[in-house]
Amino acid sequence: MSDDFEPSALDGVHQDTLAVRAGISRTAEGEHSEPIYATSSYVFDNAADAAARFCGDTPGNVYSRYTNPTVRTFEQRIAALEGAEAAVATASGMAAILSTCMALLKYGDHVLCSRDVFGTTTNLFGKYLVKFGVEVTFVPLVDLAQWRAAVRPNTAMLFVETPSNPLCEVADLALLSALARENDSLLVVDNCFCTPALQTPLALGADIVVHSATKYLDGQGRCVGGAVVGSLQPMDEVLTFLRTCGPTMSAFNAWVFLKGLETLRLRMEAHSRSALELARWLQQQPAVEKVYYAGLEDHPGHDLACRQQSAFGGVLSFQVKGGKEQAWQFIDATRILSLTANLGDAKSTIVHPATTTHGRLSAENRAAAGITDNLIRVAVGLEHVDDLKVDLQRGFAGLS
Ligand SMILES: *Cc1c(COP(=O)(O)O)cnc(C)c1O
Repeated sequence: MSDDFEPSALDGVHQDTLAVRAGISRTAEGEHSEPIYATSSYVFDNAADAAARFCGDTPGNVYSRYTNPTVRTFEQRIAALEGAEAAVATASGMAAILSTCMALLKYGDHVLCSRDVFGTTTNLFGKYLVKFGVEVTFVPLVDLAQWRAAVRPNTAMLFVETPSNPLCEVADLALLSALARENDSLLVVDNCFCTPALQTPLALGADIVVHSATKYLDGQGRCVGGAVVGSLQPMDEVLTFLRTCGPTMSAFNAWVFLKGLETLRLRMEAHSRSALELARWLQQQPAVEKVYYAGLEDHPGHDLACRQQSAFGGVLSFQVKGGKEQAWQFIDATRILSLTANLGDAKSTIVHPATTTHGRLSAENRAAAGITDNLIRVAVGLEHVDDLKVDLQRGFAGLS
């Protein structure tokens, strides 16, 4: 007999078990894999039931912009993995960040944001939220003194992404959460690079976790989606925003992400293992100037990453000797790695940050962020690591 219907059967189980089982509610058909509820609306028993469900007096589905059983299963599972009370699934990672801000910030609030967040996140704060009277200050990720100095009485949110892209800098989440708490502000962590398999920010004191499910939660580059995770009250606010403004996740995408979560830990461990091996190997190559990966003992974030993460993730970057020309030669000479800015895929990807992901920054801001013209980022996938070495060797052979 299955005890999936008894959530209490999952009390105290390991994260691996939650990743496979949390959120399941089987229908009378007895299906083993989670069904996809491809329906926009739901039928009521009678007029009184319709009225009661509409006003929320009785629970139940009304419309898939509000709730959908497949999406709910995904929400329950990602919440369980992050150790949270609740989660809200969104149409993309950016929709997760936007929904968090729209639900939890108001006119006149101030946000402290890491300078080293995803480029589109910088634009969201710096171009759009400012139009609605939300002030934002960008501070270097790892310089806690600058975070402290930049706090204002109206600072409502600290927003951080750790480890950072592409230099793998690591922020101390426990210290940042203490700073947030002292000032009655929320600490929001974009946990896209580690996923709950490697790091659970809520356990370190963060208030909210946001995800681009597009990356490792899917893990195979199929769907765009996101999630906001936290305690009941703020998640209720985020859900209300979603119902009103509409950036909901589709049932099909929720199903794909559910399947992704089942293998999340295995994949994250494999990504991390290969990335560490490649980082060490790259360090020994004569044409490499420097390797950035928190798993390397000489990385400034290494000790902190050891305390705060269970592994170092799949993204690394390195500088080749020379400049942009050499970086481009290297990239163009590889034949297995995909030249794409995406990450979190089974397929390894390679990209030149200075002219793509960070291309819109001014040369000065790029330099301040440490994105040099000879920097190359690799998001290590699930191919055999020896084959990736052969491909990177092609890159070295292509240098003139
Ligand atoms: C990709 C990404 C996002 C945005 O997610 P989308 O699903 O593309 O909207 C946000 N944060 C990080 C760290 C990302 O890598």
